[in-house]
Amino acid sequence: MRSDGTHIAFFSSGYCTAKTSFVFPGSGAGRTAFHATWALIDHPALGNILFDTGYSRRFYRATRHFPNRIYRWVTPVYHKEEESCLGWLRKMNMAPEDITHVVVSHFHADHVGGLQDFPQAKIWCSRQSLEFSRSRSRHTAVFHGILPQLIPKDLEKRVYFPQDGLEKATMSGLTMWRWSDDVFFVDLPGHFAGQMGLYLTKTNLGPLLLCADAAWSAHAVRDKIYPSKMVSLISHHYKTLISTMNALHHFQQANPDVVLLTSHGLETLQMTHHDFRI
Ligand SMILES: [Zn+2]
Repeated sequence: MRSDGTHIAFFSSGYCTAKTSFVFPGSGAGRTAFHATWALIDHPALGNILFDTGYSRRFYRATRHFPNRIYRWVTPVYHKEEESCLGWLRKMNMAPEDITHVVVSHFHADHVGGLQDFPQAKIWCSRQSLEFSRSRSRHTAVFHGILPQLIPKDLEKRVYFPQDGLEKATMSGLTMWRWSDDVFFVDLPGHFAGQMGLYLTKTNLGPLLLCADAAWSAHAVRDKIYPSKMVSLISHHYKTLISTMNALHHFQQANPDVVLLTSHGLETLQMTHHDFRI
């Protein structure tokens, strides 16, 4: 834990590829790589926080058989073990016990692949996202991008919901819950039931809004480039996704100094670390 304020670093745990036209309408043929990025936040009072956990080897085990194998066919995944969340932490001489909190933006497989590597951590997510994930059957979950095998069996024993007890606030149209003076959970539903982001008002990289998969890039939010309706196949609720993007657009206009970072955006990938130092 450091005393010189909140420090954040970004990493990638590999990527999947998907048809570019699904997410950027009118962009023509071809495929785009979607990196599974996650963040390590060193906060002076809260400790070490992970925002999502990327892919891990467990993805391959979880998708070995039908119907989960469909996931590999639709979005082939490229992941090396040393790129896993735990792999990166080990390179920095950190152990799983060094992580105090894991924030799960939502339960898509590219965000929770490493979750089982942190059995001591407190897990923060929205009640809706957990209930939605647990309510899918083993046979239908994959059609929502969920692999139940990746979700720790004991999660309910150490899960915390921001809606339960944290002070609620509205900032420029976004609903938030205050975790500390400079960290807020952000309600970003649509892409996934109860998707959650993090707003960090002071970091070594300035004020940041981590908005997970609420949009595919900060540019899409700025210019209101909505994803193709094909995305509605994997989105929880397309109309809500559009309202969330509009709210983010409004927030960005009202707070131009805040850097919006999506999980799969190029701007986030450019901030990820390619060496062992942070
Ligand atoms: Zn997602």
